[in-house]
Formats: sequence, structure tokens, C-alpha cells
Amino acid sequence: MKVADEIADIFETRGSCSYFGEPVSQLEHALQAAHHARQAQVAGPLIVAALLHDIGHLLEDIPEEIAEQGIDRRHEEIGQAWLEKRFAPEVHEPVRLHVAAKRYLCGIDPTYLAKLSGASRWSLKLQGGPMASAQGAEFESRRFFQEAVMLRRWDDLAKVKGAQVPSLRHYWDDIEQAANPFDLRRNFQ
Ligand code: FE
Repeated sequence: MKVADEIADIFETRGSCSYFGEPVSQLEHALQAAHHARQAQVAGPLIVAALLHDIGHLLEDIPEEIAEQGIDRRHEEIGQAWLEKRFAPEVHEPVRLHVAAKRYLCGIDPTYLAKLSGASRWSLKLQGGPMASAQGAEFESRRFFQEAVMLRRWDDLAKVKGAQVPSLRHYWDDIEQAANPFDLRRNFQ
């Protein structure tokens, strides 16, 4: 099965679920995030990362009220583990780091923290709260730090009810081009 078909199946099955406490579905959220990435004219793999940054939520069938129950399912790691078998680090690493990027931005910028949505502020607590400055400095030294921060900002913008953005089909070529043809691990699982 082609990666783009797998992704289409996942969104078809679970994409209509609402995006935790926000006025958009999971699919709308993904498409809005990808659209912001495309408008920023970044490389294809980062557009794919934006599109798939929350795929961990869809893979696990996490109930909507999970954060209210005080549980952090670490969707960024679930997503990264899935993406790692299909894409290069340019896709899966910004996804893995996008929650850390939120904690980083909250640590360095009080206005960012103040603007977070209610649901996002609530999940921040479960994710460990704002980073302290030493932790933030360490985060800045990581490969894909900048990409993760960009992704995080598109994530925050991608919660607009009824926004008209291109469909999933629009990203087919980006997905196929970013898929790693040399990684055969998934064929043996
Ligand atoms: Fe998100």
C-alpha cells in the first residue's frame, strides 16, 4: 500500500473526530496546519510534517476527553514511531518535537502562553509546563529545533472553524516525494 493511501485511510476512518476542545475536526486541523506550512514556502517534508503532526492521536483512537482525565498519551511519540518507518527525519523529527516546542515557546514568551487556547493550556500542564531556561537552551541546540517551532506556530493557527483550505489530495505529491523509498523496515512488519 502506498503511504499516501495509508494516510488517506487513517483520515477517512478517524479524521472527522473533533480536535480536543477546539472547533475543528482532526482532518480540518491537519489541513489548516499544512496550508500554513505551504504558504510559508517551506520544503515539502516540513509541509508533510505539518499535515501529519497529530497522526498519533488518530492511530491510537484517543477519546476526546482524555486530557480532562489528566492523561497525556504522548501523541507526538506515537506519531513519530509511525512516521519514522515511512519518512526521513525531516518529517518525523519536527513531529516528535512539536510538543516540546510548545513548552519551549511558553518558557521564553509569556505572550505566547497567554494566547494559547484553553484546551492547549490545559494539556500544557500534563505535558510538563513551560520549559525552564536551561532546558530551553538545550532544546535550541537540537537538530530540527527551528522546524519544530515553526510547526508549533502553524498548529496554533490551525483551529479556525470553517476555514476554506485545499483538500488532502492536494498533498499527495508531497507525501509520495517525502516517503523514504529506501527504508524497507515496514515491509517486514
Ligand atoms: Fe495539533
